[in-house]
Amino acid sequence: MLTHDPTRQQLALERATELALAFLESLDTAPVCATASLAELRRRFAHPLPDESADPVAIIEQLSRDVAGGLLGSAGGRFYGWVIGAGLPAALATDWLTSAWDQNAGLYACGPAAAVVEEVCGGWLKDVLGLPAHASFALVTGCQMAHVTCLAAARHAVLARAGWDVNRDGLAGAPPVRVLTSSEVHGTTTRAVKLLGIGTANMVVLPSDPSSRLAPTVLNEALSHEAGKPTIVVLQAGDVNCGAFNPFPELVPLAQEAGAWVHIDGAMGLWCNASPELRHLLAGAEAADSWATDGHKWLNVPYDCGYAFVARPEHHRAGMEHRASYLVHADDARDELDWTPEHSRRARGFATWAALRELGRSGLSDLVARCCRYAHDIAIRIGSLPNVRVMCVPQINQGLVRFYDARPGATEEDHDRRTDAVMAAINASGEAFFTGTTWRGMRCMRVSVSSWRTTASDVDRAVAAAERALEG
Ligand SMILES: *Cc1c(COP(=O)(O)O)cnc(C)c1O
Repeated sequence: MLTHDPTRQQLALERATELALAFLESLDTAPVCATASLAELRRRFAHPLPDESADPVAIIEQLSRDVAGGLLGSAGGRFYGWVIGAGLPAALATDWLTSAWDQNAGLYACGPAAAVVEEVCGGWLKDVLGLPAHASFALVTGCQMAHVTCLAAARHAVLARAGWDVNRDGLAGAPPVRVLTSSEVHGTTTRAVKLLGIGTANMVVLPSDPSSRLAPTVLNEALSHEAGKPTIVVLQAGDVNCGAFNPFPELVPLAQEAGAWVHIDGAMGLWCNASPELRHLLAGAEAADSWATDGHKWLNVPYDCGYAFVARPEHHRAGMEHRASYLVHADDARDELDWTPEHSRRARGFATWAALRELGRSGLSDLVARCCRYAHDIAIRIGSLPNVRVMCVPQINQGLVRFYDARPGATEEDHDRRTDAVMAAINASGEAFFTGTTWRGMRCMRVSVSSWRTTASDVDRAVAAAERALEG
């Protein structure tokens, strides 16, 4: 039988520290791609669950051996795929402590320090992201659940305005809610629309202009069609392909005057408020009704971490609030479960607090500016190689390049294949890691920089890897 043994615990944590440090140390030299195949990984792990118990040190040593080659180097500085941040040292260490403390951060009564630290995080985040001080907030698993949280508030508000109580009466028989958004919308918004029972058929995806922005005339036209219908408008602060921002100073008042709720997907873009050079991109965003962003991307908090904010707390709370006689509800403190979709939950505030504290205002501003500079350098330098074109010059930390098939008469499909082939060759080199996208019908390689660990020398290595891939 397993009983408490302090030595056993100590040995396991000490060994985990050694293994973790060795892993982090290897990130600058190890291949950034996976080198073990699916079949190999399955072969290593697919054993029947043994009957007998095992020693903790032996377990973590075996696990460390068996994951080798199956971990991406996304915690390092040479990873430019999707939108992935690493973990800041204080945030990672605090995340370990969070597991050791093992608080259930659903209620103040269940984790008093965790509740107070989340309160502080909420204030700090609103401050650095440029959001109104009166907004309510929730720390959730990522931007996906931040959308769900914010759009639940939105659904409650637009239906309440139409005289319908969605909490009590549900959606069957309710006035239909529509969601107006642009072609830059992220799939997580669509998923939130499905989860909340609004339905994708009630989503109108409006065409963006050539610079990936939704024009006020286009939104205006959509709003005036079926005026008075409960409406949620979802706008982008930094889209996943080009990092484009919608023109908030025009769009937000337009939508709100028409009675719509405005939600902003700021997974990346909200962090631009931390940088004086980029802050102008967010002008007018503070007037929206709700905002969603991530902690595990640009803030470099370990997975998983996201943030939801709602300008009118009563709608946020109406979407989530929970009471039960066996729980202990606080009178003057903040019970997290009144704001989050989870019930029992990780004390996610600690790592966020540590990341913000480690960076400070100047460190955050520098991190944002540095990632943008490196994304720009990678895209421009790779884009200047033969038969490469920059399709989107990064204005923030996202950009697109496309590789061209130099054979005479090559078609767009040939360029698509060339793009995927060059990207695969770069990734196979283990020097840098990129992922692709189909943008306006064309395959492109995305350049995405969100890691605090990326350096100028990592940028050189990415460019050199692309050069070699093009020669190969
Ligand atoms: C990553 C991303 C999301 C989803 O965030 P998760 O943290 O993965 O849930 C939403 N919108 C945009 C623009 C993103 O880049």
